Amino acid sequence: SWLQICSRLKGEVGEVEYRTWLTKIALGPVDGDEITLLLPTRFLRDWVRSQYGDRLSELWNQVMPAIRRVELQVARPGDPVAPPLALSEDPSDAVSIAEPEEAPRSAPEVRSDLVTALDTRFTFDTFVVGKPNEFAYACARRVAEKPSSVGFNPLFLYGGVGLGKTHLMHAIGAELVQRGNVSVAYMSAEKFMYRFIAAIRSQSTMEFKEQLRSVDVLMIDDLQFLIGKDNTQEEFFHTFNALVDAGRQIVVSADKSPSDLSGLEDRLRTRLGCGMVADIHATTFELRISILESKAAASGVVVPAKVLEFLAHKITSNVRELEGALNRLIAHANLFGRPVTLEATQDVLHDILKAHDRRVTIEEIQKRVAEHWNIRLTDMSSARRARAVARPRQVAMYLAKQLTSRSLPEIGRKFGNRDHTTVMHAVSRVAELMERDPAFAEDVELMRRMLES
Ligand code: ADP
Ligand code: MG
Repeated sequence: SWLQICSRLKGEVGEVEYRTWLTKIALGPVDGDEITLLLPTRFLRDWVRSQYGDRLSELWNQVMPAIRRVELQVARPGDPVAPPLALSEDPSDAVSIAEPEEAPRSAPEVRSDLVTALDTRFTFDTFVVGKPNEFAYACARRVAEKPSSVGFNPLFLYGGVGLGKTHLMHAIGAELVQRGNVSVAYMSAEKFMYRFIAAIRSQSTMEFKEQLRSVDVLMIDDLQFLIGKDNTQEEFFHTFNALVDAGRQIVVSADKSPSDLSGLEDRLRTRLGCGMVADIHATTFELRISILESKAAASGVVVPAKVLEFLAHKITSNVRELEGALNRLIAHANLFGRPVTLEATQDVLHDILKAHDRRVTIEEIQKRVAEHWNIRLTDMSSARRARAVARPRQVAMYLAKQLTSRSLPEIGRKFGNRDHTTVMHAVSRVAELMERDPAFAEDVELMRRMLES
């Protein structure tokens, strides 16, 4: 599989070269005996072709004899691609090319004709558990241990983008395959639809149905994709019923709960909600820190706690992006052999951080802080220096610095045209106080969280 090829290449060319060039490769479509590999730019394509082209063809042919030719192309926006390996993206839309690595010989394994390759990085071991996901995690574990248990079929996992739904599904698959004796099919709903349409075109719907109905565990990722695709929904509904009636396990993920997936047929929604419905909540700061710690530790690069905290504060929406940012830092550290510092982080991640600036405005911060400390909003810009007014104002400046991308002079201007040194002083004063006074620190943290959510 691609994973095997990557790990071999990595061994051959070394970590740095691998990260620099080869992690940029994404899998494109397979057409007959030819696979297309996609690169983001022409320069990269030419370079990879000249340096690694032959080796790539050899390796593909060794690992998958059916592949005779490797075509290198520049990716166009919208190309369906599998994730580059060292960077994390959603694997659910990867093109199906292979079985998982190391499927045990005894097992009826994953049906290679039905699946997107399971991503071997996504296991229960690498999933960091915290309050927001512990229930979903427990349900996933339970299903992996005892598929088709009463009350857990179907298992419906839902939550926002990048919170670990696909990860958990792959983990269930990996665990089942490892134990053997169950056949598992995993695919995105999108892929399910393409398969179904292709089957109709080639007049092989019976075969498609039989294949699907012969698995022990069927996992369909991102079911919301089927909204508005009535025929595919209908097909899925029948497959679903056939499997559940035959005592097979279904695992489904979506971005909303069954009852909120308006646009899915009622009878399907009803059935989806009949087993176990598990919500993955947005991450908390604590969970983001744990995830970062675990990924940093696995990378072998020392990332200071301050940097991890900075990232966990800045990138709150989505674990995938958090991970992507950390990966970039790590790649940089490896490439240039420089230690990771807060300054380097701000520099290397400049673009990402900018995109992740909270939409919270300074005005909003001022308003909330004024409310919380019971002062008038106008005092945020007034010249009054009494502590009862000055302190909240400093807190607001501090939060403005932390939560927006505004520069010190810009912040100063919003606080009654104060000088940037005043803002700087406020920021360090608040930080100092927070260190000294836990109650005050808690107050400020609370404020921050309120503004962030
Ligand atoms: P979703 O399918 O919900 O959009 P994914 O499962 O694709 O999200 O997760 C996005 C990325 O974040 C993946 O690389 C995944 O490994 C990682 N991730 C998400 N949650 C966790 C977690 N709790 N522990 C470790 N990694 C996580
Ligand atoms: Mg997903």
